[in-house]
Amino acid sequence: MKKVDLIVIGAGPAGIGATVEAKLKGKEVVLLEKADAICQTFVKFYKDGKRVDKEYKGHDSINRGHIPFEDGTKESSLATFNQALKANNIELELNSEVESVKKNGENFIITTPKQSYECKNIIVAIGRMGKPNKPDYKIPATLNKIVNFNANSVQEGEKVIIIGGGNSAAEYAVDLASKHKVTLCYRRDKFTRLNDINLNNVETAAKEAKITLKLGVDINEVQDENGKVKMLFNDGSSEVYDRAIYAIGGSTPVDFLQKCGIEVDDKGVPVFDAHKQSNVKGIFVAGDIATKNGASIVVGLNDGVIINDYLA
Ligand SMILES: Cc1cc2nc3c(=O)[nH]c(=O)nc-3n(C[C@H](O)[C@H](O)[C@H](O)COP(=O)(O)OP(=O)(O)OC[C@H]3O[C@@H](n4cnc5c(N)ncnc54)[C@H](O)[C@@H]3O)c2cc1C
Repeated sequence: MKKVDLIVIGAGPAGIGATVEAKLKGKEVVLLEKADAICQTFVKFYKDGKRVDKEYKGHDSINRGHIPFEDGTKESSLATFNQALKANNIELELNSEVESVKKNGENFIITTPKQSYECKNIIVAIGRMGKPNKPDYKIPATLNKIVNFNANSVQEGEKVIIIGGGNSAAEYAVDLASKHKVTLCYRRDKFTRLNDINLNNVETAAKEAKITLKLGVDINEVQDENGKVKMLFNDGSSEVYDRAIYAIGGSTPVDFLQKCGIEVDDKGVPVFDAHKQSNVKGIFVAGDIATKNGASIVVGLNDGVIINDYLA
């Protein structure tokens, strides 16, 4: 377990800005990014050569941070943020998706597929573009209501299959086990990405026959069986469930916030104070995630300044 002052989740402009400001104030900080490169909104949604404006859609265009972001293009903006990471010697961990954060006394524990961290403060800067990952095979549209990507819609007494091997899958399975017949299906033959608490909870629940584990088994196909979900497994077996929950990475921003215990309003915007601190003391929000429809690069950079001035 690595101990640091601050973890920043999401290496877009807001997360990179917040990390740089923290480093300049002498904090030990690690920046975690789920993808294999920074600034995924630029990478996925900006066309090559796109003009990037500092003054964008009427948002604040005065950059109060230390990253010298100016009008440019997709490519020059990416270069600016990459250069800021390098110049400030930032510890960036790519391929490090955070599924949720857990309180541990005064501190927080964050687990990624690569490592666990303990920290005093967290800045959530995950943007608003996140979507849950979907399986490669097709899911019949008639099952849309009962094939879900979170556990919010489960009805009492349903027979549920949860697919995934990460902390979200484990937590859904253990939480639902008291009132439902639950199967947890993971394509690998053992869990390697669970934190200690979740691993222990899953193993205990399985030992007490509260959940059924289907390990080392993948799903080949999903069929509609009279309005229920029929799973065809790659070991030749099949079974029918009332509901399926895929927890195979990615999440909507609102799901992520709620899993962290952060209150959101009826538009899905987190509740925060003048320092961008959420209702969970020690967790801050920066950039697009702190807005309803997204803001701008400069707004994200300035959020990092506001938060770090308060934390200093
Ligand atoms: C087409 C388009 C054009 C735009 N043009 C401009 C412009 O010209 N000027 C301007 O100022 N703004 C522009 N914007 C808006 C600007 O891109 C956003 O305001 C800005 O990217 C928000 O920054 P952010 O850091 O909050 O979020 P994002 O840029 O969305 O970055 C979030 C990062 O967090 C990562 N992440 C998400 N979930 C997790 C997780 N669980 N664990 C770890 N990492 C995670 C993502 O992979 C991503 O890299 C444009 C937006 C779009 C869509």
